[in-house]
Amino acid sequence: MKPIRTLLVANRGEIACRIQRTAQRMGIRTVAVYSEVDRYAPHVEMADVRYFLGGSASHESYLNIPKLLEAAQATGADAIHPGYGFLSENPAFARAVREAGLVFIGPSPEAMERLGNKVAAKLLAQQVGVPLVPGTPQAVTDGEALQEAKRIGFPLLIKAAAGGGGKGMRKVESEEAFLEALARARSEAQAAFGDPSVFLERYIPRPRHIEIQVLADLHGNAVYLYERECSIQRRHQKVIEEAPAPHLSEKTRQAMGEAALRLVKAAGYTQAGTVEFIVDADENFYFLEVNTRLQVEHPVTEAITGLDLVEWQLRIAQGQALSFSQEAIPRQGHAIEARIYAEDPRSGFLPSTGILYKYRPPTGEGVRVDNGYEEGQPVPLFYDPMLAKVIAWGPTREAAIQRLDKALLEFAIVGVHTTTDFVRFVLNHPAFQAGQTHTHFVEEHFRPEVLDSRPLTPEEKAALQTLVDWIAYTWYGPFS
Ligand code: ADP
Ligand code: ADP
Ligand code: MG
Repeated sequence: MKPIRTLLVANRGEIACRIQRTAQRMGIRTVAVYSEVDRYAPHVEMADVRYFLGGSASHESYLNIPKLLEAAQATGADAIHPGYGFLSENPAFARAVREAGLVFIGPSPEAMERLGNKVAAKLLAQQVGVPLVPGTPQAVTDGEALQEAKRIGFPLLIKAAAGGGGKGMRKVESEEAFLEALARARSEAQAAFGDPSVFLERYIPRPRHIEIQVLADLHGNAVYLYERECSIQRRHQKVIEEAPAPHLSEKTRQAMGEAALRLVKAAGYTQAGTVEFIVDADENFYFLEVNTRLQVEHPVTEAITGLDLVEWQLRIAQGQALSFSQEAIPRQGHAIEARIYAEDPRSGFLPSTGILYKYRPPTGEGVRVDNGYEEGQPVPLFYDPMLAKVIAWGPTREAAIQRLDKALLEFAIVGVHTTTDFVRFVLNHPAFQAGQTHTHFVEEHFRPEVLDSRPLTPEEKAALQTLVDWIAYTWYGPFS
């Protein structure tokens, strides 16, 4: 297996920076690709080689397979890392990369198909004895759907087989509302994912979301790097993640890890991947789906195990075997990640765009910031609104909470609304501090009014003044 000399990262933002940082440390030359609005973005600046894709919309740039292959060819790349989002879970892309004679940093397209589609993954999980959320393991036809729904009971969820990112899910409260919801879910799934197949799942009230990180090499070895708890969500999307999961028993942790390994082994899955479960109050766990890629929240696992997941992805891709056994994987202290989104928590978490007039990420002991922006840069509407992730590690959960809170307090951002003070509200909530997490935490505890509309700091006032001066300058020309 030949070594990787040049790696093209088919992504943007913090994850494109994070992947390049490890690759460069390993002596691998990196290629950044970029769109029109990202011309001056940090992931482009730090790259050894840059390639302009064109356009700003995703389909003209980061989702454009022919252009990405052209970029790889033109820059002499021998491997492509897809990051997360965009084309990371697209088997057609993985296949096209392979057919172009390049290494795809991820599972084979076949394994991706076996696990990436929720229905296919559920069927396989069932075969290897991984517990499923009660529901239909297969996609339902219009004819059988209502009868299946009655069998499962209400409330239930209609989910798109090809769904992801918190999209393509619809909760139905009653039999009367079912058929209309089904028709709507189908057309939404068709529009968003190009596939109208849907399946049904019982709605588990107030569950926890706990997932298992796995790593598998090309020689048949696979390990799990413990769990991450990702129950703090808004719109079924994670905002705070941590490892280990508070109060999870050792027995359940191990049972979940082993279930995850059974599934990835049955699928012939290699590389990093995540098996997601929901867990009820009695620690019964139910398989949800597999994310066949590196996940947003992977740094909390890195913080407690000391392993660099991107480094291992690159090593595995070059044929290296996992050099440690399951028992030898450390699990030290506690780590929590906050996703900093350019969204306004005071108005339903609507995306917020603008220019980052002031942008100063925090530093500090046990604090890691995975960042993709810098001061002066625009936050475009075209892509996912996540700006950065702040990860704090501490010897205990309390220490990690405290460090993260302090770091977020120091994170100065002026120009767009962010989720920073919302995250701080959660971190300081007694229920969170007691580890009483579940997926309805935000709904139950958060009201926009709890965030004070604080007065501007002197620094923010100065930044605003600069903005006003700049607008005046562009309208009226230089001041005399
Ligand atoms: P993770 O699963 O890594 O914790 P998310 O679920 O938030 O994180 O997804 C990571 C990114 O991928 C987000 O930008 C999300 O919008 C995007 N994403 C995930 N799945 C899909 C999909 N099927 N289609 C489009 N975007 C997706
Ligand atoms: P996605 O592909 O969008 O990540 P998932 O199936 O992983 O979709 O579910 C995302 C989130 O939706 C979960 O973390 C959980 O909060 C909620 N959820 C999913 N399935 C159920 C269910 N059967 N009952 C209750 N909540 C669920
Ligand atoms: Mg999921």
